[in-house]
Amino acid sequence: MPEFPKTKRNQVRRLPKRAEYRKEAIFKIIDEALICHVGFEQQGQPFVIPTIHTRWEDTIYLHGATLSRMLQHIRAGNPLCVEITLLDGIVFARSVFHSSMNYRSVVLFGTGRLVDTDDEKLRALEALIKHVVPGRWEEARKPNQKELASTTVVAIHIDSASAKIRTGPPVDDEEDYQLPVWAGVLPLQLQALEPIADARLEEGISVPKYVMQANPTRPEVFILPKSPGV
Ligand SMILES: Cc1cc2nc3c(=O)[nH]c(=O)nc-3n(C[C@H](O)[C@H](O)[C@H](O)COP(=O)(O)OP(=O)(O)OC[C@H]3O[C@@H](n4cnc5c(N)ncnc54)[C@H](O)[C@@H]3O)c2cc1C
Repeated sequence: MPEFPKTKRNQVRRLPKRAEYRKEAIFKIIDEALICHVGFEQQGQPFVIPTIHTRWEDTIYLHGATLSRMLQHIRAGNPLCVEITLLDGIVFARSVFHSSMNYRSVVLFGTGRLVDTDDEKLRALEALIKHVVPGRWEEARKPNQKELASTTVVAIHIDSASAKIRTGPPVDDEEDYQLPVWAGVLPLQLQALEPIADARLEEGISVPKYVMQANPTRPEVFILPKSPGV
Protein backbone atom coordinates (compact mmCIF):
# COMPACT_ATOMS: atom_id res chain seq x y z
CA MET A 1 0.00 0.00 0.00
CA PRO A 2 1.66 3.30 -1.05
CA GLU A 3 -0.37 5.43 1.42
CA PHE A 4 -1.58 5.22 4.99
CA PRO A 5 -5.38 5.36 4.83
CA LYS A 6 -6.92 8.52 6.28
CA THR A 7 -8.85 7.70 9.44
CA LYS A 8 -10.25 9.63 12.41
CA ARG A 9 -6.94 8.99 14.17
CA ASN A 10 -4.36 10.22 11.61
CA GLN A 11 -6.29 12.77 9.54
CA VAL A 12 -4.71 16.24 9.70
CA ARG A 13 -7.54 18.68 10.35
CA ARG A 14 -5.92 22.16 10.51
CA LEU A 15 -4.45 23.17 7.11
CA PRO A 16 -5.03 19.76 5.52
CA LYS A 17 -3.24 20.93 2.35
CA ARG A 18 -0.01 20.50 4.32
CA ALA A 19 -0.81 16.87 5.07
CA GLU A 20 0.97 13.90 3.51
CA TYR A 21 -0.16 10.30 3.76
CA ARG A 22 2.18 8.81 1.15
CA LYS A 23 4.57 6.35 2.75
CA GLU A 24 7.45 7.54 0.59
CA ALA A 25 7.15 11.11 1.96
CA ILE A 26 6.58 9.98 5.55
CA PHE A 27 9.49 7.52 5.54
CA LYS A 28 11.85 10.17 4.15
CA ILE A 29 11.21 12.34 7.23
CA ILE A 30 11.56 9.39 9.62
CA ASP A 31 14.87 8.41 7.99
CA GLU A 32 16.36 11.90 8.05
CA ALA A 33 15.61 12.43 11.76
CA LEU A 34 18.19 11.28 14.27
CA ILE A 35 15.73 10.92 17.14
CA CYS A 36 12.04 10.46 17.74
CA HIS A 37 9.72 11.04 20.70
CA VAL A 38 7.67 8.09 21.92
CA GLY A 39 4.38 8.83 23.63
CA PHE A 40 2.57 6.33 25.81
CA GLU A 41 0.16 6.24 28.69
CA GLN A 42 0.43 4.34 31.95
CA GLN A 43 -2.32 4.42 34.56
CA GLY A 44 -3.68 7.70 33.24
CA GLN A 45 -0.26 9.41 33.16
CA PRO A 46 1.02 10.36 29.68
CA PHE A 47 4.80 10.13 29.05
CA VAL A 48 6.83 11.36 26.08
CA ILE A 49 10.39 10.01 25.90
CA PRO A 50 13.11 10.95 23.36
CA THR A 51 15.07 8.10 21.85
CA ILE A 52 17.13 6.98 18.84
CA HIS A 53 15.27 5.08 16.15
CA THR A 54 15.70 3.42 12.82
CA ARG A 55 13.17 2.21 10.27
CA TRP A 56 12.87 -0.80 8.04
CA GLU A 57 9.81 -0.82 5.76
CA ASP A 58 6.73 -0.32 8.02
CA THR A 59 8.64 -0.94 11.24
CA ILE A 60 10.48 1.35 13.66
CA TYR A 61 13.20 -0.17 15.85
CA LEU A 62 14.27 1.22 19.26
CA HIS A 63 16.79 -0.07 21.75
CA GLY A 64 17.83 0.49 25.33
CA ALA A 65 18.36 -1.00 28.75
CA THR A 66 16.27 -4.07 29.51
CA LEU A 67 14.85 -2.34 32.61
CA SER A 68 13.72 0.75 30.68
CA ARG A 69 10.10 1.48 31.52
CA MET A 70 9.42 2.66 27.99
CA LEU A 71 10.82 -0.50 26.40
CA GLN A 72 8.98 -2.74 28.87
CA HIS A 73 5.79 -0.90 27.98
CA ILE A 74 6.43 -1.23 24.26
CA ARG A 75 7.37 -4.91 24.34
CA ALA A 76 4.08 -5.64 26.14
CA GLY A 77 2.25 -4.66 22.94
CA ASN A 78 0.68 -1.44 24.19
CA PRO A 79 -0.56 1.28 21.82
CA LEU A 80 2.02 3.98 21.07
CA CYS A 81 2.31 7.33 19.36
CA VAL A 82 5.70 8.39 17.93
CA GLU A 83 6.52 11.93 16.81
CA ILE A 84 9.37 13.26 14.68
CA THR A 85 10.07 16.86 13.65
CA LEU A 86 12.67 18.34 11.29
CA LEU A 87 12.83 22.11 11.74
CA ASP A 88 13.70 23.93 8.50
CA GLY A 89 13.22 27.60 9.28
CA ILE A 90 11.57 30.44 11.15
CA VAL A 91 8.95 32.22 9.10
CA PHE A 92 8.75 35.95 9.77
CA ALA A 93 5.36 37.26 8.73
CA ARG A 94 4.47 40.95 8.93
CA SER A 95 1.93 40.11 11.60
CA VAL A 96 2.48 38.10 14.75
CA PHE A 97 -0.57 36.04 13.86
CA HIS A 98 0.87 34.69 10.60
CA SER A 99 4.40 34.14 11.95
CA SER A 100 5.29 30.47 11.67
CA MET A 101 7.97 27.84 11.12
CA ASN A 102 8.93 25.69 8.18
CA TYR A 103 8.97 22.08 9.24
CA ARG A 104 8.49 18.47 8.26
CA SER A 105 6.84 16.42 10.97
CA VAL A 106 5.40 12.94 11.35
CA VAL A 107 2.99 11.48 13.88
CA LEU A 108 2.63 7.73 13.71
CA PHE A 109 0.67 5.13 15.62
CA GLY A 110 1.60 1.54 16.24
CA THR A 111 2.01 -1.33 18.62
CA GLY A 112 5.23 -2.83 19.78
CA ARG A 113 6.78 -6.26 20.09
CA LEU A 114 9.98 -7.60 21.57
CA VAL A 115 12.71 -8.50 19.08
CA ASP A 116 13.54 -11.85 20.57
CA THR A 117 15.97 -13.51 18.20
CA ASP A 118 19.68 -12.66 18.37
CA ASP A 119 19.75 -12.43 14.59
CA GLU A 120 17.01 -9.79 14.24
CA LYS A 121 18.32 -8.00 17.35
CA LEU A 122 21.83 -7.73 15.93
CA ARG A 123 20.54 -6.57 12.55
CA ALA A 124 18.31 -3.95 14.22
CA LEU A 125 21.29 -2.68 16.27
CA GLU A 126 23.34 -2.53 13.06
CA ALA A 127 20.55 -0.56 11.39
CA LEU A 128 20.34 1.82 14.39
CA ILE A 129 24.08 2.57 14.26
CA LYS A 130 24.03 2.91 10.46
CA HIS A 131 21.05 5.25 10.68
CA VAL A 132 23.00 7.65 12.90
CA VAL A 133 26.41 7.37 11.22
CA PRO A 134 26.86 5.12 8.20
CA GLY A 135 30.32 3.54 8.38
CA ARG A 136 30.52 3.27 12.17
CA TRP A 137 29.15 -0.27 12.47
CA GLU A 138 31.94 -1.59 10.28
CA GLU A 139 34.66 -0.09 12.49
CA ALA A 140 33.41 -0.19 16.10
CA ARG A 141 33.56 -3.38 18.20
CA LYS A 142 30.34 -5.36 17.83
CA PRO A 143 28.20 -6.19 20.89
CA ASN A 144 29.26 -9.33 22.79
CA GLN A 145 26.80 -11.84 24.26
CA LYS A 146 26.68 -10.04 27.64
CA GLU A 147 25.98 -6.68 25.99
CA LEU A 148 23.36 -8.22 23.72
CA ALA A 149 21.64 -9.81 26.70
CA SER A 150 21.46 -6.50 28.58
CA THR A 151 20.06 -4.62 25.57
CA THR A 152 16.40 -4.75 24.69
CA VAL A 153 15.34 -4.11 21.11
CA VAL A 154 11.72 -3.48 20.29
CA ALA A 155 9.93 -3.17 16.96
CA ILE A 156 6.94 -0.92 16.43
CA HIS A 157 4.77 -1.73 13.45
CA ILE A 158 3.50 1.53 11.91
CA ASP A 159 -0.25 0.96 11.69
CA SER A 160 -1.12 4.52 10.74
CA ALA A 161 0.76 7.78 10.10
CA SER A 162 0.62 11.24 8.64
CA ALA A 163 3.14 13.95 7.88
CA LYS A 164 2.58 17.68 7.96
CA ILE A 165 4.92 19.88 5.95
CA ARG A 166 5.22 23.65 5.78
CA THR A 167 7.54 25.22 3.23
CA GLY A 168 7.95 28.63 1.65
CA PRO A 169 7.52 32.30 2.53
CA PRO A 170 5.15 33.91 5.00
CA VAL A 171 1.53 34.23 3.98
CA ASP A 172 0.29 37.60 5.20
CA ASP A 173 -3.08 39.26 5.04
CA GLU A 174 -3.26 41.27 1.82
CA GLU A 175 -3.42 44.66 3.62
CA ASP A 176 -0.28 43.82 5.70
CA TYR A 177 2.04 43.50 2.67
CA GLN A 178 2.50 47.31 2.72
CA LEU A 179 3.68 47.39 6.35
CA PRO A 180 7.31 48.54 6.93
CA VAL A 181 8.11 45.27 8.68
CA TRP A 182 10.80 42.83 7.50
CA ALA A 183 9.33 39.54 6.37
CA GLY A 184 10.90 36.35 5.09
CA VAL A 185 12.40 33.07 6.23
CA LEU A 186 15.45 32.35 8.40
CA PRO A 187 16.49 28.85 7.23
CA LEU A 188 17.70 26.52 9.98
CA GLN A 189 19.71 23.32 9.78
CA LEU A 190 21.38 20.83 12.08
CA GLN A 191 25.09 21.29 11.57
CA ALA A 192 28.04 19.04 12.38
CA LEU A 193 31.01 20.94 13.84
CA GLU A 194 34.68 19.94 14.15
CA PRO A 195 35.02 16.50 15.76
CA ILE A 196 36.59 16.51 19.26
CA ALA A 197 38.93 13.55 19.78
CA ASP A 198 38.56 11.62 23.03
CA ALA A 199 41.26 12.48 25.58
CA ARG A 200 42.16 8.77 25.82
CA LEU A 201 42.39 8.15 22.08
CA GLU A 202 45.44 6.04 21.21
CA GLU A 203 48.06 7.90 19.22
CA GLY A 204 48.02 7.83 15.44
CA ILE A 205 44.28 7.33 14.96
CA SER A 206 42.86 9.96 12.65
CA VAL A 207 39.24 11.01 12.31
CA PRO A 208 37.55 8.56 9.92
CA LYS A 209 36.09 9.85 6.69
CA TYR A 210 32.59 8.75 7.73
CA VAL A 211 32.79 11.01 10.83
CA MET A 212 33.89 13.99 8.75
CA GLN A 213 30.99 13.33 6.39
CA ALA A 214 28.38 12.68 9.08
CA ASN A 215 26.35 15.78 8.51
CA PRO A 216 22.67 15.12 9.18
CA THR A 217 21.68 17.85 6.75
CA ARG A 218 23.20 15.87 3.91
CA PRO A 219 20.62 13.17 3.36
CA GLU A 220 22.88 11.26 1.01
CA VAL A 221 24.92 10.04 3.97
CA PHE A 222 21.75 8.58 5.47
CA ILE A 223 21.48 5.70 3.10
CA LEU A 224 18.73 3.29 4.11
CA PRO A 225 20.18 0.50 6.19
CA LYS A 226 20.08 -3.03 4.93
CA SER A 227 17.12 -5.12 6.01
CA PRO A 228 17.32 -6.03 9.71
CA GLY A 229 16.06 -9.39 8.55
CA VAL A 230 12.35 -9.14 9.27
C1 LIG B 1 18.83 12.37 22.01
C2 LIG B 1 18.49 11.24 22.93
C3 LIG B 1 18.64 9.94 22.49
C4 LIG B 1 18.33 8.87 23.35
N1 LIG B 1 18.44 7.59 22.89
C5 LIG B 1 18.05 6.57 23.68
C6 LIG B 1 18.04 5.21 23.19
O1 LIG B 1 18.36 4.95 22.00
N2 LIG B 1 17.65 4.24 24.02
C7 LIG B 1 17.27 4.51 25.32
O2 LIG B 1 16.90 3.57 26.05
N3 LIG B 1 17.26 5.75 25.80
C8 LIG B 1 17.64 6.79 25.02
N4 LIG B 1 17.62 8.06 25.52
C9 LIG B 1 17.29 8.26 26.92
C10 LIG B 1 15.77 8.22 27.08
O3 LIG B 1 15.23 9.49 26.76
C11 LIG B 1 15.34 7.89 28.49
O4 LIG B 1 16.01 8.68 29.44
C12 LIG B 1 15.55 6.45 28.87
O5 LIG B 1 15.24 5.55 27.86
C13 LIG B 1 14.57 6.21 29.98
O6 LIG B 1 15.15 5.46 30.90
P1 LIG B 1 14.43 5.11 32.27
O7 LIG B 1 13.70 3.82 32.11
O8 LIG B 1 15.44 5.25 33.33
O9 LIG B 1 13.40 6.30 32.51
P2 LIG B 1 11.87 6.26 32.78
O10 LIG B 1 11.59 5.37 33.93
O11 LIG B 1 11.13 6.02 31.51
O12 LIG B 1 11.65 7.78 33.17
C14 LIG B 1 11.41 8.23 34.49
C15 LIG B 1 11.24 9.72 34.43
O13 LIG B 1 12.51 10.31 34.19
C16 LIG B 1 12.37 11.46 33.41
N5 LIG B 1 13.11 11.25 32.15
C17 LIG B 1 13.36 10.10 31.50
N6 LIG B 1 14.06 10.33 30.39
C18 LIG B 1 14.26 11.66 30.33
C19 LIG B 1 14.92 12.49 29.42
N7 LIG B 1 15.50 12.00 28.31
N8 LIG B 1 14.94 13.81 29.68
C20 LIG B 1 14.36 14.31 30.76
N9 LIG B 1 13.73 13.56 31.67
C21 LIG B 1 13.67 12.26 31.47
C22 LIG B 1 10.88 11.63 33.15
O14 LIG B 1 10.29 12.44 34.13
C23 LIG B 1 10.36 10.23 33.30
O15 LIG B 1 9.01 10.18 33.64
C24 LIG B 1 17.89 9.14 24.68
C25 LIG B 1 17.72 10.46 25.10
C26 LIG B 1 17.99 11.51 24.23
C27 LIG B 1 17.75 12.92 24.70
